[in-house]
Amino acid sequence: MSRAIIIGAGHNGLVAGLLLARAGRKVTIVERRDVVGGLCAASEVCPGYTVPGLHHDTTGVRREVVESLGLSRFGLSFESEAPSVLAANSEHKGVVLHAEAKRSRDELEMLQRGDGDGYLAWRGFLSRIRGFVSGVLSEKPPLMKPDSIAELWNMGKTGIGLRRLGKPDMLELMRVAPMCAADWLQEYFGNPLPAAALAAPAATGASLGPWSAGTAASLLLYESVRGPEVKGGPAALTQSLQRAFEAAGGEIALESAVARIRVESGAVSGVELEGGGFIEAPLVVASCDPKRALLDLIEPATLPLDVEEQVASIRVRGSTAKVNLALDGPIHFRDRDGERHARAVVSDHLDDIERAFDAAKYRTCSERPHLDVSIPSVNDPSLAPAGKDVVSILAHAAPYQLEGGWSDDARERFGDAVVEVLESVAPGVRASIVAREVLSPADLEDRYGLTGGHIHHGEHALDQLLFMRPTSKLARYKTPIEGLYLGGSGSHPGGGVTCQPGALAAEAILKS
Ligand SMILES: Cc1cc2nc3c(=O)[nH]c(=O)nc-3n(C[C@H](O)[C@H](O)[C@H](O)COP(=O)(O)OP(=O)(O)OC[C@H]3O[C@@H](n4cnc5c(N)ncnc54)[C@H](O)[C@@H]3O)c2cc1C
Repeated sequence: MSRAIIIGAGHNGLVAGLLLARAGRKVTIVERRDVVGGLCAASEVCPGYTVPGLHHDTTGVRREVVESLGLSRFGLSFESEAPSVLAANSEHKGVVLHAEAKRSRDELEMLQRGDGDGYLAWRGFLSRIRGFVSGVLSEKPPLMKPDSIAELWNMGKTGIGLRRLGKPDMLELMRVAPMCAADWLQEYFGNPLPAAALAAPAATGASLGPWSAGTAASLLLYESVRGPEVKGGPAALTQSLQRAFEAAGGEIALESAVARIRVESGAVSGVELEGGGFIEAPLVVASCDPKRALLDLIEPATLPLDVEEQVASIRVRGSTAKVNLALDGPIHFRDRDGERHARAVVSDHLDDIERAFDAAKYRTCSERPHLDVSIPSVNDPSLAPAGKDVVSILAHAAPYQLEGGWSDDARERFGDAVVEVLESVAPGVRASIVAREVLSPADLEDRYGLTGGHIHHGEHALDQLLFMRPTSKLARYKTPIEGLYLGGSGSHPGGGVTCQPGALAAEAILKS
C-alpha cells in the first residue's frame, strides 16, 4: 500500500487524509503543533476558560461534505438553525439580525422605516442564488481551456446553473459581484447599523475595506451558503474528523514539523522533519498555506520559474488579531437585560470599518477596531465557570507589518482598544475581565504557521479566488512537482471552516 503524507492536521488536512485513508492509502498526517485541529483546535485562555477554536464561525461547513464522510457517526452534530447576530450599537440597544429575515423585520422597521423590508429582500435574493453559489464552491474551479468532455460539461453546468436563476437574479448577481459591499448594502438599508453589521464578513481576510470594489463578491460567497453552527464549535468538527480518520487506519504525528519536502527528479519522495527524520512517500498533500509549502518547504528553483513567481506574488497581508477574554460574570449588552447573545458585531457605521482598514493599510492599528464577537459559553456553559463567560473576538484591523513591530506594548495597546470598543456596547465588561489574551497577526504566524499571519492562507480578493486560487497555475490542487498537491484554505474555494478544499484536493488525487 503506498504511503501518503499530509502536512498539517487542520480541518482540511484531516478531510483530505480521511478520504485518502478510506480509499486504501496508508496516510500519515504530520503536524508541527502538539494538538490536532489547526486553527480549529480549542485553547485554554486561563484555568476554567476555554475557546473552542482560534476562530469561532462554523456556519460555512459544507453539509454535503460532512454528510458524505458520515461524520455524525463520529459525534458531529449541528444546531437547529443558523445563528442570529446582535448588531451592537454604542448609543442604543442595537438590533438582532436573524438568518430567518422575517423574525428581524419589526425590529429593523422600528430602527428605520423600510429596513425591515430591505432585509427580507436582501435575504430573499441570497436564498435564491444559494444553490448556484453552492455548486460553484463545491466543484473544482473550471479550467481556462477545457481538455476533456468532463471538463466541458463542468463548465457548461456552471453556465446552465447561472441561467437557471432566471434573468432578473442572473443579471443581479452579475451586477452585484464586482461591486463594493457598502454600495450594495446601502441599496437595502437606510440606517447605517444593519449595513455595517452585514458588511463585516466582506472585509474579513481581504485587505480591503467595505468601500473597495469586489467586496460584495466575498459577502455573497459567505452569506449565501451560511447554515447552522456545529454543536461544540470548530474543535468539535476536528475531533469528529480525527476519530473518523483514526478509525480508517490513519495516523497522526504531532510535534513533527516538516522542514523540507524532498523532491527527486521532478517528483516528491517524502518529507524531512525538523530535528532529523525522513518519511518516505510518493504523495504529499500540503494543507499549510501555499507560500509556506512552495517557497519555504521546497528548495528554491525546484518549481518552474513562472510558478515560483506566481507563488511569491500571492498576497497574504494579515490584518486580523484575535482577543480572548475570561470574565468573572456574564456579559451584558446595553439595554438587552435578560437576553443572551452568542454572536455580536460591533461597528456603528460602514465608515468605521473602512477607517479601521485604512489604519492597517498604512501599517498602524485602528484605534476603534471593528469587532466580530462570539460568546461560546452561551451555547456551551462548560467552557467557563458557572455563571461566567468566555469571549472570543476577531478584531480588525491590526496589520502584520505594524510600524515599529509587534512589541508587548503594541499588543497590549491594541488589546486595550478592543476592550474600549466592547465596553461601549457592553458596559461593565472591562471591570469583569480576569484574563486577556491578545494574538497579533505576527503571533498567529509564529503559533499557527500562517504566512503573513493571514487567517485564510491568502487574501480573498477577486484575483485570488476561483481559478486564480492560489494562482492560475496551481488552481486544481496539483503542482508541477509529481505527487505534490495543495489541500488547505489557500486553495479553492478558500478560507473559512468549510472542509471543501481538503475534499476537492483528495478528489483530484483519487481521479488522477
Ligand atoms: C483568528 C482567526 C479567525 C478566523 N475567523 C474565521 C471566521 O470567523 N470564519 C471563518 O469561516 N473562517 C475564519 N478563519 C479562517 C479559518 O479558520 C481558516 O481558513 C481555516 O480554519 C484553515 O483551515 P485549514 O485546515 O485549511 O488550515 P489550518 O487550520 O491553518 O491547518 C494547517 C496546519 O498546518 C500546520 N503546519 C503548518 N506548517 C507546518 C509544517 N511545516 N509542518 C507540519 N505542520 C505544519 C499548522 O500547524 C496547522 O495545524 C479564521 C482564522 C483565524 C486565524
